[in-house]
Amino acid sequence: MSYVNTAVASRDFKYYIFDWDDNILHMPTKIRMERLEKDGSWRPVDLSTATFALVRSDGVNYRPPGGDWQEAFRNFEDSPKRDNFLEDTRAALARIAAGEKPGPSFNALRKTLREGRLFAIVTARGHSPDALKRAVRLFIDSVLTDEEKAEMMSNLRGYRQWLDGVGDGEFGTDAEELDYYLSMCRYSAVTYEGFKRRMAADPIYQEKLAVASTSAKPELAKEFAIRDFVEHVFHMLRRSGNLGRAVSIGFSDDDKGNVKSVSSYIRSELSKRFEGIKFVVYDTSDRSLSKGRKVCVSGQLNLPGF
Ligand SMILES: [Mg+2]
Repeated sequence: MSYVNTAVASRDFKYYIFDWDDNILHMPTKIRMERLEKDGSWRPVDLSTATFALVRSDGVNYRPPGGDWQEAFRNFEDSPKRDNFLEDTRAALARIAAGEKPGPSFNALRKTLREGRLFAIVTARGHSPDALKRAVRLFIDSVLTDEEKAEMMSNLRGYRQWLDGVGDGEFGTDAEELDYYLSMCRYSAVTYEGFKRRMAADPIYQEKLAVASTSAKPELAKEFAIRDFVEHVFHMLRRSGNLGRAVSIGFSDDDKGNVKSVSSYIRSELSKRFEGIKFVVYDTSDRSLSKGRKVCVSGQLNLPGF
């Protein structure tokens, strides 16, 4: 393998947006609830996301601790005592190493990293971008083989040479080049305070939020995170003089509701605003599908070169 893979300059422009839970990994994070006992008392119970989905509308037998929903989802946020997202990712990866089936987009993330392509993690959790980034680093460390890591580094140097004009002998250490790559990717946990503040400060989303129902707000947040990444890719292409090239951006999520709302957002807004970009949505909700995903495409399909 070459030290600098110069062939990346003639490669397609494909980027990915990944939902994390049950799309990349089946995380062990528990929702803290209380359950009504026969004697009329409430007992604390930790529920998996799958069980929670079944009982969430059962307001008679289940309630968040003391009626506080934020408390119920405390494990989906950062804590000073425990690096929640990193440690839960570690546990999920250990189960895969022991033979458990990974999430449907696990191998797509692995390939994206190996190829050194830009990506975004978009999740309904409440962690800081750094917490998500630490988990991606752990994924690289423990999932990619040594050969795949070397391939990733060769590709990263190729992109640096081509897009940033870094010459032979000017590359940083592997750790520095990996830092640079990971800093170019996006990590959006949409219930994180910093994310919510950024969204509320955006003029378009200020207006959208003002008229949105409570249930539509998480979907709006995912929209905002997706638009953010698409703009980021667009600016990167413009800066490097590659706007005319055929570009595709994929989005994968195992939640049918998200797939539906993101698809309609792409059709009604994004594909019109970014005419040269092809959008591909992967619905990974059906675990019985062999590849675990269904594909729907929106946006410009008739560009030369496709
Ligand atoms: Mg999910």
